[in-house]
Amino acid sequence: MFAIDGYKTIDVCFEPDRAIVTTILEPIQEMLCHRCEHPLDSALSRYHLRIKDLPIMTYENFISFFRRKGFCPICKKVRAEKVHFLSDETPHLTKQYTWWLGKITEVTNVAQAGGLTGVDKSTLWRIDHSKLGT
Ligand SMILES: [Zn+2]
Repeated sequence: MFAIDGYKTIDVCFEPDRAIVTTILEPIQEMLCHRCEHPLDSALSRYHLRIKDLPIMTYENFISFFRRKGFCPICKKVRAEKVHFLSDETPHLTKQYTWWLGKITEVTNVAQAGGLTGVDKSTLWRIDHSKLGT
């Protein structure tokens, strides 16, 4: 149901009292540098991300996973791995949710889009602004 390329779904948690769905993923893809896309050496550390995806009906929808970090021999630095579904504008939203928010800001202003979606105005402004640049 909630399959994402390069990740294995570990669990899907429904919280009816809070109207929240959380999909817990585990990466099974090769770790690639998020900057240059060269394979990273073995994972040195990881950090937890809980990012917002498109709502499901009236439920807020989150994806929860650990993003790994490893040494990139090209950048000669420790880099976070590339996460293909992460928004370019903010690390708190998915690409598809950002696309949808961009569509909403096409038909209404940022303040009204914020009231409708619960996403803060500065994030919506950034999404709207980056869309104008493309
Ligand atoms: Zn790199």
